[in-house]
Amino acid sequence: MNKRIYLDYNATTPCDPRVVDTMLPFFYEHPGNAASRNHPFGWEAEEATIEAREHIAKLLQVDPKEIIFTSGATESDNLALKGVFEMYRRKGKHIITVTTEHKAVLDTCKYIEKHGGEVTYLKVNKEGLIDVEELKNAIRPDTILVSIMWANNESGVLQPMQEIGKICEEKGVLFFSDATQAVGKIPTHPKELGIHLMAFSAHKMYGPKGIGALYVCRKKPRVKVTEQMNGGGHEEGMRSGTLNVPGIVGFGKAAEIAQAEMESEALRLNKLRNKLEKALLEQVEVSYVNGSTQSRMPNITNISFQYVDSEGLLMTFNQNIAVSTGSACTSASLDPSHVLTGMGIADDLAKSSIRFSLGRFTTEAEIDRVIQEVIQGVQQLRDLSPVWELHKDGLL
Ligand SMILES: *Cc1c(COP(=O)(O)O)cnc(C)c1O
Repeated sequence: MNKRIYLDYNATTPCDPRVVDTMLPFFYEHPGNAASRNHPFGWEAEEATIEAREHIAKLLQVDPKEIIFTSGATESDNLALKGVFEMYRRKGKHIITVTTEHKAVLDTCKYIEKHGGEVTYLKVNKEGLIDVEELKNAIRPDTILVSIMWANNESGVLQPMQEIGKICEEKGVLFFSDATQAVGKIPTHPKELGIHLMAFSAHKMYGPKGIGALYVCRKKPRVKVTEQMNGGGHEEGMRSGTLNVPGIVGFGKAAEIAQAEMESEALRLNKLRNKLEKALLEQVEVSYVNGSTQSRMPNITNISFQYVDSEGLLMTFNQNIAVSTGSACTSASLDPSHVLTGMGIADDLAKSSIRFSLGRFTTEAEIDRVIQEVIQGVQQLRDLSPVWELHKDGLL
């Protein structure tokens, strides 16, 4: 048995072996370019991408023509935000987003601000949720887009998508969501919720890395985005470039599997996550869950262990357990996570947080071992800590 335990599924998921099997023939046996119209190699490749597109469209309950393939969610976020900003410039230049978004959204918004756009950043409460009244009040006559993620990658918190969709519809504003952490794990049907653009990525749902998509609503309203990659007019003129056929085939298979197994998988992971969370909260003094426990993904918990440095805690695992500290996506920086501080969590508590994200290949035996190792690790660090001593003496 593998000694190493992977609990970092929100960073990336392993590729499901069934996905790999489906992809393999498209590297050598079927090498065609899906845009080659004059020979069977091209036709086979095109057919395979059509089938994959259908699986993905079915998962989202949208038209296959509404799926624009990209290189991943980062590119999809860029295409949605910059593409709408450029396409709807005459209508306005104001975008609304949230302080706890993924950097792929926040950094793109910064770029847009440098290029003449105006961005409002909504705050979240300590549960990690936005206030929909605040959103309503932030919409101006020149607002063209509201960009709010579905599920947060660090906390798993789910925003009130239905209410947001309603407000955007009333005000006639486009609604874009980075749904990378939600697609394939919980039902994500953009049309039911009034979402006009939606970004997601294969490698967060057991598909390969380097392939993602942007859903772009074609009807009521017909949405267009300005292409950010010029050359050939692929993907309805919104994203040029030779299609990544093996990647797309794998993405399609991942979507097909997700659709079939989502419900039972969410229940199983919810149980394992709750077991982990309950054991840690009960057995580790002054530990807290970060973010809402009501409106949350089933596979993740983000816990702060007060007076413990999370980087130090990771070291006690001897590299046998892969989890993430609060600052996962910016692990080069020592700043506390902007998602946690955005929820009003103090810097020191944010730096004592661990994100445990579970997935398809997580077992109960692994969860049992993680519980033991975390409890031991916290104990070990606190035994050496003068701050913990002060706390125990009632001086902190
Ligand atoms: C992982 C992630 C991204 C980036 O996706 P890539 O496909 O790696 O570019 C964007 N947004 C969220 C919420 C994510 O979790």
